[in-house]
Amino acid sequence: MIYNIKSIDGKLQGQFEGTSAKDAAINAFNSWGSELKSKIEVTKEAPKPIRAAKCYTCDYCRNNIDKGDLYFRVNRTIGNPKNTIILPGTIVHNHYSYTAHVCTNCKRVYSRSTS
Ligand SMILES: [Zn+2]
Repeated sequence: MIYNIKSIDGKLQGQFEGTSAKDAAINAFNSWGSELKSKIEVTKEAPKPIRAAKCYTCDYCRNNIDKGDLYFRVNRTIGNPKNTIILPGTIVHNHYSYTAHVCTNCKRVYSRSTS
């Protein structure tokens, strides 16, 4: 499931993947870190597609997203943020976040299979 998340102060906004709204919120917290200075708002509203300014590869089907095609940007987290281990002076992350490019076709399939 993909959620739209924005900070109440309006400074940060993004689309995050998660099995629940809480999960997506954890992804947002992890990816924004100290940049986040306010509470966040999570909405289930469908992300808006963006027109590609250059060629990308779809993160799900590995097909090309050609320049000018519509696609979605989604923040994905690999691993489990809940497994982050905090040791004195060190934080061991068992996950990482990145921005995925998703073609409109996969977005449709993905939304259907998880809703
Ligand atoms: Zn795809």
